[in-house]
Amino acid sequence: MDRREFIRKSALGVAAAGILPAALLEGCAPAGTGTGNKTGKKMKISFQEGIAPGDTLADKFDFMEAHGVQGFEPNGRGLAGRVGEIKSLLSSRDIEVTAICAGFEGFILAENPETKELFDRTMREIIVAAGELGSCGVIMVPAFNRQTPCKPHTQETRDYLVEQLAELGEFALRNGTAVILEPLNRREAFYLRQVADAASICRDAACAGVTCMGDFWHMTWEETSDYGAFYSAGEHLRHVHIASRGNRRMPGEDGPSDDYTDGFRALQEMGYDGWVSFECGTDGDRLETVPAALELIRSQWEAV
Ligand code: MG
Repeated sequence: MDRREFIRKSALGVAAAGILPAALLEGCAPAGTGTGNKTGKKMKISFQEGIAPGDTLADKFDFMEAHGVQGFEPNGRGLAGRVGEIKSLLSSRDIEVTAICAGFEGFILAENPETKELFDRTMREIIVAAGELGSCGVIMVPAFNRQTPCKPHTQETRDYLVEQLAELGEFALRNGTAVILEPLNRREAFYLRQVADAASICRDAACAGVTCMGDFWHMTWEETSDYGAFYSAGEHLRHVHIASRGNRRMPGEDGPSDDYTDGFRALQEMGYDGWVSFECGTDGDRLETVPAALELIRSQWEAV
């Protein structure tokens, strides 16, 4: 049995043994397990911590519940120390933790062994906390442009990345969660820019704990087709970020260019059952711009 086959069988073994929590198997199910909007499936909307108006997390959750937002995407920084607080705040609410947005230190493609070790240690701490919160995965970027020295963009580096991710994905699976690769636009991270490329890395890692996502903001610059990008990710697609398409504000703040229907059509046809999570700022009053954004994307989802 070669290494990849071993990893695949290990992942299947974990799932078969019933170790994975229901959240991973159902709540954050990969594409292909849903029913699609043609049968009336609603979009599952999630907010990062800064999206909803409110002075406290409790205020923000009140707002989210009042507007039918059932997902919360916290930042990973310091997450281990916040597990109790978040669990307590959500215990009586119709809101669940979705993905965890990064928060680790160092990076996986670091040339410097100490920087790589820092990534390995802090990423694993966040993965453990993510598992305790029932999260569908921890979002990560292989290397931002500003992170140097970085391994060169070669076949050898890709092989290394796939192997490292397979190990990390196994660790995530054992903790009931996953890692989620996020492609970014070229100004932020030249290494991984397109959803299909992230998906092919997931395929080659051959581990159910290695997944990917698409962010409409980054896709605006890097993809020639929202539909093609999402569809190409297939079963590896675990999460989606959304923002306005010109200035990364609330959907709708950039006018007619904020059209998500092509991407939504792919998500529905794929039976995507994951979350669409807000990652954006606003130029207006959140009490007005957030409800307007929700109305816009819900109407576009229904219009597909
Ligand atoms: Mg994003």
